[in-house]
Amino acid sequence: MSSLLTFPKGGVHPPASKGLTANLAIEVMPVPDELEIILGQHIGAPCTPTVTPKDAVLEGGLIGEVTKGLGVPLHAPVTGTIKGFGMSGHPMRVSAPSITIQTDTEALPVQYSRCDWQKLSKEELLAKVHAAGVIGIGGAGFPSHVKLSPPPDNPVDTLILNGAECEPYITADHRQMLERAQEIVEGALVILKILGIKKCFIGIENNKPDAIKTMTEAAAAASTPEHTVVVQPLQVKYPQGSEKQLIQAITGRKVPGFALPSAVGVVVHNVSTARAIYDAVVLSKPLYEKVMTISGKGIKRPANLLVKVGTKVSDIVEYLGGVTPELAKIVMGGPMMGFAVSSLDIPVTKTTSSVLFLAEDEIDTTPHSQCIRCGWCLNACPMGLEPKEIALYVEAGRPQDTGQFGVFECFECGCCAYVCPAKRPLVQFIRLAKMKAKR
Ligand code: SF4
Ligand code: SF4
Repeated sequence: MSSLLTFPKGGVHPPASKGLTANLAIEVMPVPDELEIILGQHIGAPCTPTVTPKDAVLEGGLIGEVTKGLGVPLHAPVTGTIKGFGMSGHPMRVSAPSITIQTDTEALPVQYSRCDWQKLSKEELLAKVHAAGVIGIGGAGFPSHVKLSPPPDNPVDTLILNGAECEPYITADHRQMLERAQEIVEGALVILKILGIKKCFIGIENNKPDAIKTMTEAAAAASTPEHTVVVQPLQVKYPQGSEKQLIQAITGRKVPGFALPSAVGVVVHNVSTARAIYDAVVLSKPLYEKVMTISGKGIKRPANLLVKVGTKVSDIVEYLGGVTPELAKIVMGGPMMGFAVSSLDIPVTKTTSSVLFLAEDEIDTTPHSQCIRCGWCLNACPMGLEPKEIALYVEAGRPQDTGQFGVFECFECGCCAYVCPAKRPLVQFIRLAKMKAKR
């Protein structure tokens, strides 16, 4: 039995399918002529534009602000002119309000230089993270400055950086850990200073030995007696990168019910978010570009790309030489938690980690049938829920009664659907139940 750490309950082992892009260095995609920047990039109210049509904007300049509630400002990914406002395609909401910028193709890229961040106070560092528009770019888009300000009644003692990247196909974090290790680790040091704590673990699944080696060297070089950064190799098991599972694997602490990680003294950030925090604090560079993986047998040239936020999937496809005749399905995000889309007319947001172009032999098209009560979905669920019961209640027209099965604790990892021999669309049933059930 492996001595590597992992979470204790459930989980599955889907094929990693990372071979198409794992060895491809991050490539900078040329800036398209036009970008569509969605106003609601984060959890909370969308930004209100601070620009009007025909305004000239500079790369990194402010184009949107949150006027109330949770949120972060929005910045121009390129130098150019505001073309107008409209609606853009969105993988989950069908469409969403956006700003269109016409790129000035003659403009030179803005250069950023290091600041002496060690001299800044915690409040000044937090203000820089907020002003740069940093959100959790590996997940749901939670504003990072809020995550870095845990409630005072929950003292935090541990930072965990999530480098598990357990979703099949995606290699964007893997490549950043190989190519930007020092920046990620310096981002971790910034976070430790903001939180006023000493210890950071970086959790990386054991199928990325090169990333474990590179990150271990960078962490050792940056660690001091005051701040230690330690790489923790993890067993390969999906969903190892989910926040609660990662915390339990590394610290043994179990986050109760609907509580936040700070309830057990932990703050978790993705490695790519740590790099965005490095950019925000050390370079004073706002978050307006994104490393993402484009993969699958349905795209002519799979790649790990650095793209501007607002780049449309259609521009990426054109840059990579088009799709192949085998293309059967397009997924934004990973195959386990992503969303199938039917249009290429969708812009990349701060949280888009990948777009997969999958061929027939990479997807399962078997029609679903009746539940045979095998119980496999119960065993696979890392939250210990009863997906089969939720689905049966939805089918019986009683989605409002599924709260008793913990439907709101489900984070839609897809393990249950993955193992189901009847191919039941359990996650879709659960999403429906969440819309109708009461907490
Ligand atoms: S999708 Fe929800 S119910 Fe299914 S395994 Fe994941 S957490 Fe459990
Ligand atoms: S895995 Fe599928 S068939 Fe088996 S109990 Fe769960 S829903 Fe039913």
